[in-house]
Amino acid sequence: MSSREPQVLLPGATLGILGGGQLGAMFAVAARRMGYRVEAISDVADCPAARFCDRVHVGDYADTGFLGQAAAGLDVVTFEFENVPAAAGRLLADRLPVRPHPDVLFTTQDRVREKAFLVRHGFACAPHRVVRSRAELDAAIAAVGLPAVLKTAAFGYDGKGQAKLTVPADVAVAWERLGGTAAEPRELVLEGWIDFDCEISVVAARGRDGAVAAFAPSRNAHANHILDVSSVPAGLSDAVRDEATATACQVLEALAVVGVACVEFFATRSGRVLVNEIAPRTHNSGHLTIEACETSQFEQQVRAVCGLPLGSPRPLAPAAMANLLGDCWFAADAGSPVEPDWAAALAVPGVRLHLYGKTEPRVGRKMGHLTAVAASADEAIARVVEARRRARRG
Ligand code: AMP
Repeated sequence: MSSREPQVLLPGATLGILGGGQLGAMFAVAARRMGYRVEAISDVADCPAARFCDRVHVGDYADTGFLGQAAAGLDVVTFEFENVPAAAGRLLADRLPVRPHPDVLFTTQDRVREKAFLVRHGFACAPHRVVRSRAELDAAIAAVGLPAVLKTAAFGYDGKGQAKLTVPADVAVAWERLGGTAAEPRELVLEGWIDFDCEISVVAARGRDGAVAAFAPSRNAHANHILDVSSVPAGLSDAVRDEATATACQVLEALAVVGVACVEFFATRSGRVLVNEIAPRTHNSGHLTIEACETSQFEQQVRAVCGLPLGSPRPLAPAAMANLLGDCWFAADAGSPVEPDWAAALAVPGVRLHLYGKTEPRVGRKMGHLTAVAASADEAIARVVEARRRARRG
């Protein structure tokens, strides 16, 4: 952008958020508390962010006329999900500051480009090969070995577009499912299976001045490939904690992120820290920062994209977060959804409820989350898990 761009966007400015999901909603809550106007750009009118934004522009991300109109009244745009067409980000970046720059999305929204970035900068990650044909898959397996995971390069999240290959017989099945057609083979990445000790993530922010602030690593437990419970402190050795934190900050620097990003890692049994994925936005594993840190990840995103000083990410107390998937609505063997018993959940001490306002519960859909602070991470985990158990009827 031009040098006429103001250094700092002060309260009163209008912040745009591309995407209308819960991350956009929580960003809007933080921004409006600080006196900003927030406008979401979403392909769905009845989205979680709509409840908290001053305005929602509803249209197709691929429609340049719509995007141009939506951008007209905005001072800056940031993202709440990364599967935005690269052309849409570039169109916006021609008109106003887009933070992080769409080039960051371009790198991270495709596993082939993301892995190439990691390798180019010397960040440790799982052994892998790019696969564009059945012959390349066989060569990749010969190089990487089994077990391994085959992943689509684009538009994969929460384990979608993935297949674990354990024995040679799995190869043909996985190729059939993920490989596309002979005419249009799909780009894939084969990754060696990491026998990890745990999965962790670091949410960090980088300001316009290059200052970086990282939240404490969170320990993440997944169920059916979807984040289930995050907790802080993560119970890591000092060496692993410091390595993950430093690596996350270096990733943000290497990508020149202005905004918030999350780096997900495998912490191996031998004490190594391997980058799994980068999300150039706030992250589900950072939701507990709302209750448990001096500055939340959402306020940090506001500060970073507005050119304000970053807030302190210091943890105030051990905390845990449990996701509330649509499954919680289908506990009682009933065909139709039943509203969980929130009063029972909130009877557990220290538990806070966040519901995203989604009207249609579906299995696997993120409907909300519970956070608890406590004297230890284990106690916080016990509280959110117990609250979620009590919420489920039947
Ligand atoms: P991803 O979409 O790449 O984050 O993968 C979803 C989940 O699958 C991860 O959080 C891990 O639990 C598991 N996973 C993915 N890749 C690997 C790997 N190379 N080795 C072991 N587990 C993996």
